[in-house]
Amino acid sequence: MSEENIIPEDGKKSLNFIESVVEKDLAEGLNNNKIQTRFPPEPNGYLHIGHAKAICLDFGIAREYDGVCNLRFDDTNPIKEDTEYVDSIMQDIQWLGYKWGNVYYASDYFQQLWDYAIDLIKAGKAYIDEQTSEQIAQQKGMPTQSGVSSPFRDRPVEENLRLFNKMNTGEIAEGQMVLRAKIDMANPNMHFRDPIIYRVIHTPHHRTGDAWKAYPMYDFAHGQSDYFEGVTHSLCTLEFEVHRPLYDWFVDELKNFHPEDGTYRPHQYEFNRLNLTYTVMSKRKLLQLVKEGLVSGWDDPRMPTICGFRRRGYTPESIRKFIDKIGYTKYDGIIDYALLEHSIREDLNVGAKRVSAVLDPVKLILTNYPEGKTEMMEAINNPEDESAGVHEIAFSRELYIEREDFMEDAPKKFFRMTPGQEVRLKNAYIVKCTGVKKDDAGNIVEIYAEYDPLTKSGMPESNRKVKGTLHWVSAAHCLTAEVRLYDRLFSMENPSEEKDTDFRDLLNPDSLKILTGCKIEKELENAQPLEHFQFQRIGYFNVDLNSKPGKLIFNRTVSLKDSWSKLKDKG
Ligand code: ATP
Ligand code: MG
Repeated sequence: MSEENIIPEDGKKSLNFIESVVEKDLAEGLNNNKIQTRFPPEPNGYLHIGHAKAICLDFGIAREYDGVCNLRFDDTNPIKEDTEYVDSIMQDIQWLGYKWGNVYYASDYFQQLWDYAIDLIKAGKAYIDEQTSEQIAQQKGMPTQSGVSSPFRDRPVEENLRLFNKMNTGEIAEGQMVLRAKIDMANPNMHFRDPIIYRVIHTPHHRTGDAWKAYPMYDFAHGQSDYFEGVTHSLCTLEFEVHRPLYDWFVDELKNFHPEDGTYRPHQYEFNRLNLTYTVMSKRKLLQLVKEGLVSGWDDPRMPTICGFRRRGYTPESIRKFIDKIGYTKYDGIIDYALLEHSIREDLNVGAKRVSAVLDPVKLILTNYPEGKTEMMEAINNPEDESAGVHEIAFSRELYIEREDFMEDAPKKFFRMTPGQEVRLKNAYIVKCTGVKKDDAGNIVEIYAEYDPLTKSGMPESNRKVKGTLHWVSAAHCLTAEVRLYDRLFSMENPSEEKDTDFRDLLNPDSLKILTGCKIEKELENAQPLEHFQFQRIGYFNVDLNSKPGKLIFNRTVSLKDSWSKLKDKG
């Protein structure tokens, strides 16, 4: 947990460093006391939980300081972008609980950016370079050693204007020429060494189609887009820190061409990105997993995407609380996945209805219980929330219990079912095992027990001490369901750090186990997609998107306890 988010004694939450900046700017009356942020995704993939961290900050700051946060699609590279991604991004932001002011697209500024580029050319501050990108990269030099100027650096303005126009008509092949800002080939900040600001792309754009062939680079689009919109605080991740001087340079030059715009000016601030153990957070890698069928899609419940977490059973609250806990700092690190699991457990503990489900069923026959009799037992929906009420569960002579809850030759501390030992059946009676039936291969096919009619839950005798309580369902009254047990997607704590191994070789081979033939209580008959439940003694589960009555599918959101860290402790 970061120090920034520890609650001081006066009960008021301390400010993170971005909030401190905002409060200082407000106190000084900067930008007419206006607060405006933006969330600027590139629509080239689905949002992941790292984006949620940026979203909570961008939208959170606006909400906290009576400002506005706009959604801006940074769509300056038509090769990788698609409207499918635009739609999913909007859905995910809303699901997380945030509302944007306006929706903008960087592509809406193509004309303004073009005009600005023309102004720069006319002012002798940009030129067309016909070298290859390799040549340009080579000439940049090293931070400690100045670069080599392009032979095209002093091309006359008229020629630059003519060629820049040609870059946009389709006459120029991709890679044949670029527009570069003419800044400083000796600057210790490499981003100042005549950065490329326009390139030719012939792929049609998802919004502007064939209107443009010359496209602005990120550095030439981002700060200016902030400026056109009136963004005051442009929040991004630490890797953009070294871009900030160039961001400022382009904004200041632009302001020089438009002095009538007054004192307003956007500022960029950087915070640490979210990295999580046992997963990867790069859209490029996530896209690869989807395309190669290594997961079932962007919303595979093992994916670190927002839609993956949604399908897995995570709630927006649990994600927001997690983000709040980890805080915002200036130092990159990696956060333990267990912290995220802790957050969803806390949320579902108070929010999920308790039900009975037997994942690996074996039959239990109560030999002294009347045949054909059914009793309706009362089951508490949520011990953490009295208002959640109760429901009924049918009890009868033939039940299912978990195979692992029985052991024939049990050690002393095995408090579950074993011959001669009493256990309680949750919400029902105390029973004592009397024997088993095995098939020819020696597998147990039935377990026999006798129940004590005086020990029904709620009756005085029911206070008798037994050490174990087992969950069960009635064979004649239960439903059959498919249950998907999900685990970490990668077996390594930090797959991105394993430089010598392809990240796909680090996938956890046991990240999904599909169980069919699970027995669940009738109460779940009409469970709706995305509904949450606690399967008692097992974990939290939700109903899969493809589940329907008659063909129920449940996803394990998280186990009841952190079995992974226990495993690690043992190992
Ligand atoms: P990726 O590196 O996964 O491809 P990206 O940075 O290219 O992501 P964008 O669509 O450009 O993705 O990101 C939109 C915003 O989300 C940016 O402001 C970016 O800084 C922020 N962001 C992206 N990844 C993270 C992360 N892991 N933690 C916090 N913020 C992030
Ligand atoms: Mg990006």
